[in-house]
Amino acid sequence: MENQYFQNEYQSIFSSLDRRAAGRIYKRDIIQVMEENGVLLEGLRIQQKLDEYTSEQPIQFFEFIEIIQKNMTLFKKAARGELVLKNFNSFSKKVSQIYEDTMQINSGAVASYIPELKRVNPNEYAVSICSIDSQQIHLGSVDTPFCIQSTCKPINYCLAVDEHTSDYVHQYVGREPSGRGFNELTLNSEGLPHNPMINSGGIMSCSLIQPQLSVNERVAYVLSKWESLSGGFFPGLNQAVYLSEKETADRNFALGYMMKEKKAFPKNVNLEDVLDFYFQSCAIEQTTKRLSVVAATLANSGVCPITGNRVLESSTVKNCLSLMLSCGMYDYSGEFAFNVGLPAKSGVSGVLMVVIPNVMGLAIWSPRLDLLGNSVRGVSFCKQLIENFNFHIYDSLLSQDPKYDPRRPQNEKKVNGVRKLFEAVRNGNINEIRQLSSQGIDLNSKNYDFRTAVHIAATENQVEVLQYFIEHSVVLTTKDRWGNTPLDDAKRNHNEDAVKLLLTFD
Ligand code: GLU
Repeated sequence: MENQYFQNEYQSIFSSLDRRAAGRIYKRDIIQVMEENGVLLEGLRIQQKLDEYTSEQPIQFFEFIEIIQKNMTLFKKAARGELVLKNFNSFSKKVSQIYEDTMQINSGAVASYIPELKRVNPNEYAVSICSIDSQQIHLGSVDTPFCIQSTCKPINYCLAVDEHTSDYVHQYVGREPSGRGFNELTLNSEGLPHNPMINSGGIMSCSLIQPQLSVNERVAYVLSKWESLSGGFFPGLNQAVYLSEKETADRNFALGYMMKEKKAFPKNVNLEDVLDFYFQSCAIEQTTKRLSVVAATLANSGVCPITGNRVLESSTVKNCLSLMLSCGMYDYSGEFAFNVGLPAKSGVSGVLMVVIPNVMGLAIWSPRLDLLGNSVRGVSFCKQLIENFNFHIYDSLLSQDPKYDPRRPQNEKKVNGVRKLFEAVRNGNINEIRQLSSQGIDLNSKNYDFRTAVHIAATENQVEVLQYFIEHSVVLTTKDRWGNTPLDDAKRNHNEDAVKLLLTFD
């Protein structure tokens, strides 16, 4: 039974791609479904299978199933328009426009307090988006690596919480915005870092991750987690930035000693090791392409959308996003939460990682920073995104929100209306048919198999409904995908009354 259902489900998808109803499709038909929905084939099993076919080679149903087998759910959702970003093309166009607009902004300055960071090209600009269904948009220098700097903090925090528990970790670090600079020499009233998103808290998270291992082993552990978070890409580590930061890290050493003096660390912590581990975490390299997948993994409650593997516990991700929302954007965190309303973390390299829970992750990289240390273009991009799309966590409260929601299909109202119309016809509910018509639903509408409400009425022998359609001049002779008119359907089902009625109009 289940098998039959499965067969029918995929047969309908196959038929929808089979333009001439010839029982075969081509490689380009499969590629088109994925591309139109923004799903990159690169790295997917479908791609490997498709490589076995030439462009002219016909693909039959059983071969189609073999090709999509390893990415079946993803393909099914794409073919049926069920991926989270429904209107991918128009969304993607708007995002490109925002990218072009914000590219014109040239204010701000590259961070220079870590000497090696100054060497970056200030004009770099990359934006990557990855949805929880792995739909992707990449604009600009998306393959150029940069150091993640403070964006290591949310991830290190998650690793510490997953390893211990939230309660344990928060014995060592608070949850309150500090209201002070990210590296200021200040602790909360209990002598602990205010939160894990500023330097003192970032150093504290490092002290909690795999403390029994050597620094090198701890770094390797964190790198392997980044590999899983980004869908299987082992990141690099920028030695020059690491050494440069270590040489000029008096402030971070001062923060470390201040915490040590207050006995803030767990027992037996070797401060030099912890700081070394922290500097190396900050020097991890990512591209926006990879970092957007990391952000999407957070948006997807800890499951990487590319591999489908759980990397972090969902409760950990929830805690982390709460802290990113309140503390992730330096001294602009409150403003950002107010105006943009999304959890985010920025870093002094000009990176910005933004999470739209249950929708997508964004990675933006543009090295020029404002006075508070956030990427100027990055912040402006987020503001424009929120002006256009209802992604602010509280946008859903606005009943008359004029913003566009890319999670809903543009023609959702129409599709639902036609579905209701067919159901009303099947039930012979003329009252509802009249109501739907007065709501503007076209009684001549066709579904994806080109079947009309008249086909349904003829098949179900709903004579009164047919009468109603005749009185309202609905077209009675439309042919469906298989070339059948409503009269053909009535005959095939031996619906004498319907046949008689329709014959008079044939
Ligand atoms: N490695 C940098 C520091 O500790 C990170 C700062 C940041 O990106 O906020 O100063």
